[in-house]
Amino acid sequence: MLDSTELGDRRDLSADVCIVGAGAAGISMALALADSGLEVLLLESGGLDTEADTQALYAGSVADPRMHSPPDRYRQRRFGGSTTIWGGRCMPFDAIDFEARDYLPHSGWPIGLDALLPYYPEANKLVEAGEYAYQAGNAFTRKLAPMMRGFTSEDFSADTLERFSCPTDFGRRYAHKLRAAQRVRVLLHANVTELHLGESGHMVEAATVRNLAGQHLRVSARWFVLASGGLEVARLLLASRSQDPRGIGNAHDVVGRYYMCHIAGTIGTLSFDGPDAQVWHGYDVADDGTYCRRRLALKADAQRRLGIGNFIARLHHPRITDPAHRTGILSLLFLARAFIPYEYGKRLHGEEGASFGTWMQHCRNVLMDAFGTAGFLWHWLRDRTLAERKFPSIIVHPRVPRYSLDFHAEQEPNPESRVTLGEEVDALGMPRLVVDWRYTHGDVETVRRSLLLLARDIQHSGIGRFDYDPNSVEFEMTRYGAYGGHHIGTTRMGTDPRSSVVDADCRVHGVDNLYIASAAVFPTSSQANPTLTVVALALRLANHLKTQARRVVPLFPNEVQRSGPRPQGESPAPADTMRAVS
Ligand SMILES: Cc1cc2nc3c(=O)[nH]c(=O)nc-3n(C[C@H](O)[C@H](O)[C@H](O)COP(=O)(O)OP(=O)(O)OC[C@H]3O[C@@H](n4cnc5c(N)ncnc54)[C@H](O)[C@@H]3O)c2cc1C
Repeated sequence: MLDSTELGDRRDLSADVCIVGAGAAGISMALALADSGLEVLLLESGGLDTEADTQALYAGSVADPRMHSPPDRYRQRRFGGSTTIWGGRCMPFDAIDFEARDYLPHSGWPIGLDALLPYYPEANKLVEAGEYAYQAGNAFTRKLAPMMRGFTSEDFSADTLERFSCPTDFGRRYAHKLRAAQRVRVLLHANVTELHLGESGHMVEAATVRNLAGQHLRVSARWFVLASGGLEVARLLLASRSQDPRGIGNAHDVVGRYYMCHIAGTIGTLSFDGPDAQVWHGYDVADDGTYCRRRLALKADAQRRLGIGNFIARLHHPRITDPAHRTGILSLLFLARAFIPYEYGKRLHGEEGASFGTWMQHCRNVLMDAFGTAGFLWHWLRDRTLAERKFPSIIVHPRVPRYSLDFHAEQEPNPESRVTLGEEVDALGMPRLVVDWRYTHGDVETVRRSLLLLARDIQHSGIGRFDYDPNSVEFEMTRYGAYGGHHIGTTRMGTDPRSSVVDADCRVHGVDNLYIASAAVFPTSSQANPTLTVVALALRLANHLKTQARRVVPLFPNEVQRSGPRPQGESPAPADTMRAVS
């Protein structure tokens, strides 16, 4: 592992595969290619820890600050990327997510779930989410108590699982493996600021790399893989405009469009009848120690029948900001919200005007529930702070069986929801991003109709009721704007270059040696959190490059020779490494 500042200015480097970005995708690819015989150069903007000046390179602006966080939030520009702060919730996409659904405009992947199934188990290992088993029936040998005893539904499954990563910080977890890999070089503080096409316009010939010390490098490679995150891959393509003002891969103005997050919110009150109501909304621990959680998932047939997107819901504690919950630990969280990192505390900060009376009621809750609060703090210290595999989230078991509903829904692809380059530039001279995230009427309908159906099924099951204000659905699903760190769709996959940026192999249309490993290539967002699928796609891409390498025999024609002696600790001469393997 080297630091770009140690190399000196105006150096040339080359490799077989140049990966831009060492987050979940970039590190997974580098690991998968480590024994391929290919020389891999992994360029990472950050260092091993968060640094303010590097993180500031992510800053940009948003069209509507109520709808989206500033772009330097919910992302980490350092080795390990955003996995240094992620929540670790994992699940694969559903088969329906890949289908072209006539009721969901711009939906449809050029690959199906079957293309990812060979890679999901390995991805699951990398994220350390235990066994690849996402149905409670398969994942547990013991019989679990039902999530909601007596709940019956044709349209919702209560059997699907989310499994939790440690949460694994890919940087910390895999640094030693990358250090040990002889053919992988990691270069820190190496910001790719522009890609350059060769004369044909169909090959990336080199990447310009800069650091904040003012040094430049030039990197050539047989293949380039952009793994710089769902917003940044679009930024880099758009900013690579010295040969074409539209940028690279953007002949049809698609790069940056179709930007999706997830639609998420908390709504209503779910109350269960009778003292013997049996409800379990917490975690089930698998034999291997992985925390798993069941949720209510809208089945594919119901989605098709209603003509809506994918949707899941979980039973959740009451809204923390409202002291009426009378739960000490929830009130303590409210009172301590200034100390909770922005990415997790945002949902405690979003509401205006917590009055003095509200504060007093929260204080009262803490005092009145002192034993409960102390017990929770001990559990948190033991099972979260000190534990290697961390308890994933706050679970409060209410004294009366009353919950709110937490939903997480697919957002439909919308070309008007987009990121573009602004006028301002960062410290490296790269234009900053402008984020204009939008949601659609279809997104509102997905949530509205799913909730209606769920309320009906709960009532019909005779187990309780779900009360909520149907008129508040749109407000609740956008109360805190776009859902955090899921940056999807900005370089979508498809067969038609007029409506997509990469093909089914994640190769940028029209550029033979440029690939993307990121949620940016997802044409649709699913209900699922993205990282497991990001990693599975990265592994699939690594496999594709290995196959390509076996096919390609000639040396890379425009190889750029080094202009100086090899720095200490660097891998074998690039001229050797440009040869095809096997
Ligand atoms: C608070 C939070 C909670 C989350 N929780 C979950 C969850 O529970 N489940 C889930 O599935 N996902 C979750 N996510 C999302 C998850 O973190 C991302 O999906 C994942 O990190 C994406 O991996 P990536 O490799 O594509 O991008 P990143 O992890 O963002 O990595 C990109 C890397 O590229 C580097 N880079 C950027 N630009 C350049 C450049 N120009 N040159 C060189 N390097 C560059 C960055 O420094 C970074 O290291 C969460 C995110 C956040 C912020």
